[in-house]
Amino acid sequence: MSLPGRAAGLARPAATDFGNHQPACRDHHHPDEQALRPDAEPAEHRHPRQLQHPLRVEQQHRQERRAGRHPYTQTHAPPPQRSSRHQARRRRRHQGAAAKRPHAVPDATHPAATPATDAIVAAAGNPCAAPHFTLRQIPQEATVTQQVPLDPSGLAAATADHGVHAVTDDLAYARLALVNVVFSGAPDAGDRGWVLIDAGVIGMTTRLVAGAAARFGADARPSCIILTHGHFDHVGALPDLAERWDVPVYAHPLEHPYLDGSAAYPPPDPTVGGGLMSLLSPLYPRGPIDLGSRLRALPADGTVPDMPGWRWLHAPGHAVGQVALWRESDRTLLAADAFITTAQESAYAVLTQEPELHGPPMYYTADWGLARDSVVSLAALEPERAVSGHGPALHGPDLRRALHALAADFDRLAVPDRGRYTDHPARAADGTAYIRRI
Ligand SMILES: [Zn+2]
Ligand SMILES: [Zn+2]
Repeated sequence: MSLPGRAAGLARPAATDFGNHQPACRDHHHPDEQALRPDAEPAEHRHPRQLQHPLRVEQQHRQERRAGRHPYTQTHAPPPQRSSRHQARRRRRHQGAAAKRPHAVPDATHPAATPATDAIVAAAGNPCAAPHFTLRQIPQEATVTQQVPLDPSGLAAATADHGVHAVTDDLAYARLALVNVVFSGAPDAGDRGWVLIDAGVIGMTTRLVAGAAARFGADARPSCIILTHGHFDHVGALPDLAERWDVPVYAHPLEHPYLDGSAAYPPPDPTVGGGLMSLLSPLYPRGPIDLGSRLRALPADGTVPDMPGWRWLHAPGHAVGQVALWRESDRTLLAADAFITTAQESAYAVLTQEPELHGPPMYYTADWGLARDSVVSLAALEPERAVSGHGPALHGPDLRRALHALAADFDRLAVPDRGRYTDHPARAADGTAYIRRI
């Protein structure tokens, strides 16, 4: 099965044209914002709310929202009204003519960037370590995240064993810090009898290997690794694991420049989403990594190596070559970051993993038109269960209800009002999705 209106092979899907660009709104900062440094402003001059720890502020806001007033937004204030001009611009954008986009071919190579995950962790624990951001922005963290709330009954039944949650007899996932990895294969599948989907963040190699050993047996290596996309939180342990296990790594060709040392991702947008994770996003590594000869293209016929019954589906928008994996027989969807089940922009939500359905992580999504098309297509699959890149696995009617609600109202629920990529998406076709460092 392939996505409606979308080829399961390597052909680019019909895509929304983003002509008629309007001038971008880049004035995101209030003129009297204060830099987030201990010496930027005497403490006595700050508003009391600005002195609270951002996670505590967010927790309070989320508890208020949990009291429940509006079915789809968690804002404690009414959602901002968009101007008619803004709405007209968005309508024009989404009504644009479809266009085929050829694959972009990188034309230069450069060394892999050094990951800075330690800095991220340090900064997450100490907001003062992030001098680019403002105190005024942090209290907004919990007030702007958009989501479809879910009843806990929508959580897929899962038992935790060494941090591995079983979703079906032959599918499980493990949450490594802020991201999920998925294990495909029956328990005790043994050496080369299973497949790993995505590879978590750097520093998680030991936990990931322990989880695999708990499920498949000591020293059991996968037959291959499938990447949904190449963002840092999905490839962090990959160089270690590929070397340790000596396995091929499959990804969509449009992601290859980020994986063969050719190009970095476009810059994240810390101004969208409103959460601490968004604010810290400029610190995250953008690649590339270089997998060398281990890197392979996903089969053009839509099949998934060593995963019989599964097909890969191009689900661009969050990343140009993002893929979801779909098994028709039991309607199981591995959604990557096309939609997620926690507010990834929010450090508090990442910690608590409350079930909510969200669009892709805002700070890293570079083409909102394609992101919307992907969610609409995945919702049309009517999945019985879904594991996304972030947040708990979901199943049943509640999943489908929430997914359709997200698809139907994607622009309001998932797309930021303004940001770096809302009017000027980064695309593969014109090369703007690939940042080459000379
Ligand atoms: Zn991602
Ligand atoms: Zn992710």
